[in-house]
Amino acid sequence: MVPSPPRGARTRARLTVERLRDLYPAVTELRHENPFELLIATILSAQTTDRSVNLVTPELFRRYPTAADLAAADPAAVETLIKPTGFFRAKTKRIIAASRKLVEMFGGVVPSNIDDLTKIPGIGRKTANVILGAGFGVPGFAVDTHVIRLSNRLGLVRTKDPVKIEYQVCSMVPPEEWTGLSLRLILHGRRVCIARRPRCEECVLNDFCPSSTVRPKPRRTRATVAVAGPPSSRPVPTPNRPA
Ligand code: SF4
Repeated sequence: MVPSPPRGARTRARLTVERLRDLYPAVTELRHENPFELLIATILSAQTTDRSVNLVTPELFRRYPTAADLAAADPAAVETLIKPTGFFRAKTKRIIAASRKLVEMFGGVVPSNIDDLTKIPGIGRKTANVILGAGFGVPGFAVDTHVIRLSNRLGLVRTKDPVKIEYQVCSMVPPEEWTGLSLRLILHGRRVCIARRPRCEECVLNDFCPSSTVRPKPRRTRATVAVAGPPSSRPVPTPNRPA
């Protein structure tokens, strides 16, 4: 008999952590050598692929290795360098503004707490959590479009609000798993649980995911059929007769 899928978001969250941990490393695909490079790469990754960011950042960081260097950069030169990532004029303004703020407020050093990180222009909660987790090893659960989709499909949450998702998922898994789970959900969303056509048949979560298109239905036994049927079809219990 096929067992029933586990009920309860907490159990599904635990299984998701365990199975994805075996499948993916807890890494961001954005190449970086330090928190400053990760911060800039994360801003550049908006509305493009990590691959296209990785194409431009080696030369960008060779020319501007520190926040002070990028804060003083000629915008036209930066635009030329980052053009392949798209929206290059707006992104140039963002990374220069972020670098200036880093210099003015934090002496050019990327802060390692979410309150200070979110004071930097272009850094929202999602980016701050990526930097905390992947840059400093501080637990952070970044919620991007993949995490929103997967956490809903897996029945961990029922909301599209990133802040609510962050709090709800973090309440279900221990802090030491927050960064890894977020990074692995992103990788799983890119490779398997794709937005338009999830590849449920090759997904390691398909036996308990409520949205799986291939999860076998639990077989109904005679007893469960009788209990689940209309009241008139249920067996009438025989009262104990006196001896
Ligand atoms: S079973 Fe399908 S819907 Fe569920 S997480 Fe896997 S790919 Fe996504």
